[in-house]
Amino acid sequence: MNKTIQREAILHELRMRKDHPTAEELYGALHEAMPQLSLGTVYRNLEQLSAAGIIRKLDVSGKRMRFDGDISPHHHIRCRECGGVRDIPGAATMVLDRQMERMKEEYQCDSYTLEFKGVCPACSASGKQNKLQ
Ligand SMILES: [Zn+2]
Ligand SMILES: [Zn+2]
Repeated sequence: MNKTIQREAILHELRMRKDHPTAEELYGALHEAMPQLSLGTVYRNLEQLSAAGIIRKLDVSGKRMRFDGDISPHHHIRCRECGGVRDIPGAATMVLDRQMERMKEEYQCDSYTLEFKGVCPACSASGKQNKLQ
């Protein structure tokens, strides 16, 4: 199968989703429509796309690497129960960007990682149910 088509399909799927999927999740979503696609190909494309700055590889804690099709500046919040990652709308990045600029000369600083943590609404709802039982 054409490599460009595979790459476009991976990119399209990632950009449509807001859940910051792992490579496995993207593979799971695509492989029915594209049986020739392998998990290795998904990994390789995600690495290449993030190295090229077309997508973002999330530096969040947790076991699996997650990817973001939205490269505009924004922060993330991670649920410590299910590991799900969501965008924080309107989170200020300007102060940190300015700080990074100031660190550039001394440290050649070019990135920073800020991760909010908590328990997502779905997990906290199921947690409450468990306590009631
Ligand atoms: Zn959760
Ligand atoms: Zn995001």
